[in-house]
Amino acid sequence: MRNNSHARIGTDTGGAGVHWNGISFRWLPYDFEIYSKTVDRYGKDKIPKDMTIQDWGITYDELEPYYDKFEKTAGISGEENPIGPKRSDKYPNPPMQETAVTRLYKKAAKELGYHPYHIPSANVTRQYTNPDGETINACMYCAFCEEYGCDFGAKADPIVTVLATAEKTGNYELRNQCTATRVTHSGNRANGVIYTDTSTGQEYEQPADIVVLAGFVFTNNRLLLLSEIGEPYNPKTGKGIIGKNFTGHFSNLSTYVGTRGFFEDKKFNLYAGAGALGTTIDDFSGDNIDHTDLDFLHGYEVHYFQTGMRPIANN
Ligand code: SF4
Repeated sequence: MRNNSHARIGTDTGGAGVHWNGISFRWLPYDFEIYSKTVDRYGKDKIPKDMTIQDWGITYDELEPYYDKFEKTAGISGEENPIGPKRSDKYPNPPMQETAVTRLYKKAAKELGYHPYHIPSANVTRQYTNPDGETINACMYCAFCEEYGCDFGAKADPIVTVLATAEKTGNYELRNQCTATRVTHSGNRANGVIYTDTSTGQEYEQPADIVVLAGFVFTNNRLLLLSEIGEPYNPKTGKGIIGKNFTGHFSNLSTYVGTRGFFEDKKFNLYAGAGALGTTIDDFSGDNIDHTDLDFLHGYEVHYFQTGMRPIANN
């Protein structure tokens, strides 16, 4: 977590939502209630004394309508996870194309008795107009959205979705190159933001009825600490909440192991791809396996991604 090299923090319009790959999983019901569900199934002793896991305070069922709303706003292109949690509606767009490798992966996974499905993708598979009236183009598999914005308007990002919608209201102003340094508050209520326009050095205080912290996990925690909101987490005493259990990107929060196969008799055309093109299985995710005789909690996924082999990086 203290290594910034794996945190792709977005600093311009749309933030990290512009350079995300577009992989759009939902958390599992187990993730939201990991403490209670672990205790229910295995008993309290399953959780080591120094492990700080806790329930989120909201459940999957409570959040599900908002997942659905997000997926429709973003035009998520996906296929039903055969062993996934229940959904109130299907994805608004069909999954990404099958490729030679996704076909091979799915065939192999099925033969082993697993349940492969296409990774839900914000690289949108057909021209799509979202409920706010914003059009997202059809992805052309050019493979340049991994860690970059999509020039073609085919990846759901804030610029082609919610910022465009906000702009149309006439009640919205975007101030780029500004950095929030404090949230002002009175008693228990936030009432404004202090920010600096980094192009001029001028500091402003913006009063507000509602303050939304959407600056990614590092900035959000830092702003709360600097603003002296909430009780900072003290790892020695276990008291406090701000900064507790915070985590960012997969490279830091978990082990991410890759492997590469060589096939003499097959051609895969891996120059083509998209940030979220791929396939996966959930058979080992969350608490989908019995952990009774295992000395860890939670699980892992076995993905295949075809993000496109950019020529210089890969050669
Ligand atoms: S693969 Fe290309 S067209 Fe598709 S979303 Fe990514 S950058 Fe856009």
